[in-house]
Amino acid sequence: MDFGLTEEHRMVQKMVRNFAQKEVAPIIKEYDRKQEMAPFVLQRMGELGILGICFPVRYGGQGMDYISLGLACEELEAVDTTLRVVMSVHVGLNSMGLLQWATEDQKQRFLIPQARGDKVACFGLTEPGVGSDVAGLSSTARRVSDGYLINGEKMWISLATKAHNSLVVARTNSHAADPHDGLSAFLVELDSPGVTTGDIHGKLGVRAGSTGWIAFQDVHVPEENRIGDEGEGFKIAMSCLDNGRYTVAAGATGLIRACLEASVRYANERKAFGREIGKFQLVQQKIATMLQSYEMARLLYLRAGWMKNQGARNTRESSLAKWFATDASFQAAADAIQVHGAYGYSDEYEVERYLRNSKGAVIYEGTSEIHQLMQAGYALGYRSDAALRCELPAYDVEGWQEPM
Ligand SMILES: Cc1cc2nc3c(=O)[nH]c(=O)nc-3n(C[C@H](O)[C@H](O)[C@H](O)COP(=O)(O)OP(=O)(O)OC[C@H]3O[C@@H](n4cnc5c(N)ncnc54)[C@H](O)[C@@H]3O)c2cc1C
Repeated sequence: MDFGLTEEHRMVQKMVRNFAQKEVAPIIKEYDRKQEMAPFVLQRMGELGILGICFPVRYGGQGMDYISLGLACEELEAVDTTLRVVMSVHVGLNSMGLLQWATEDQKQRFLIPQARGDKVACFGLTEPGVGSDVAGLSSTARRVSDGYLINGEKMWISLATKAHNSLVVARTNSHAADPHDGLSAFLVELDSPGVTTGDIHGKLGVRAGSTGWIAFQDVHVPEENRIGDEGEGFKIAMSCLDNGRYTVAAGATGLIRACLEASVRYANERKAFGREIGKFQLVQQKIATMLQSYEMARLLYLRAGWMKNQGARNTRESSLAKWFATDASFQAAADAIQVHGAYGYSDEYEVERYLRNSKGAVIYEGTSEIHQLMQAGYALGYRSDAALRCELPAYDVEGWQEPM
């Protein structure tokens, strides 16, 4: 067992930390207030290779491993959740799904431009009437002679108005005995006729990010843009979530770290009753709990990343990492505000934004309740993971560096 990071991991950490701390931290409050995404963020993440971090060089990526992806997410969310959300949808939920399920032709057409950051990608699963109960979704993809016509609406879609491509799950068979088997996945180019998108305003958090809706009215999608076989949409969506949840877990770990660092700083400066508040045991308790949560969350996501590197199925481990880290980051942010007293309640300090941002991750990519049901299901023997037709490829240190 090796708990050490490689030289390459440390380089990734440093590069992403530099970007987030130097280029984004100084302006994030302004964009959070304006409820807008900073205009340079996607472009810079593409230029730095962050959007293609864990893809083979021959598919336009940086040829790094899945642990590098986790470390990048931790650094990004230590500054702002919106940066990590980009990784969750563009990398985890969409591009890694293509790496796992797409044909070689689809990888050439879609994965390469996405990994290079030339095209931005999102993930359209949730609908106005359906979130957790994926098999109940009502968007349809009706077969026509040369492909499919997609109709329906996707809601709460991160990057909906910024993305060029969306992975969309729609119903192709409404008569399937098991509704899970009636779904299929498509890579839809969002400039296709019949697609409209819009932003959702008034969110509690991720205000410097983009969350919106996508409507499809008789959108023609050629057969060669269907990802996987007809009827595999549910399995594809769930394996995309294994990857997205990993990024959410790693990011929430970074948010816990940010809460811890802010609280330690403040506890060493602020005085009450003639001494630094860090000297009071009830303040120490909050700081100790943040430290404990950070270390546990980090171990859980790194284990899931290690399993991805081995090509091992990690649905159970990614779910546990996501559930633990997101609940713990919400608690850490609430405690960080408490440590800051009234100043924590204002946007003079960062911690109020941490709390608003942390809540979303307890809801998206499986609510905490859904993860509890999953974990109980595994523990009780009600649930197990059958092999998939396509698994996420194991990291191959040499093969991933081979040129195009
Ligand atoms: C900021 C943000 C970004 C998002 N980005 C995306 C995105 O990019 N793509 C995308 O497809 N979706 C996205 N989502 C949507 C998100 O994935 C859904 O909100 C989530 O899956 C929950 O679905 P829901 O909101 O419809 O809640 P519901 O499923 O309606 O659940 C409501 C409540 O009921 C509980 N509940 C439901 N079923 C059960 C059960 N069986 N047992 C116990 N409790 C249950 C839930 O835990 C929750 O507390 C985003 C959401 C947010 C807030």
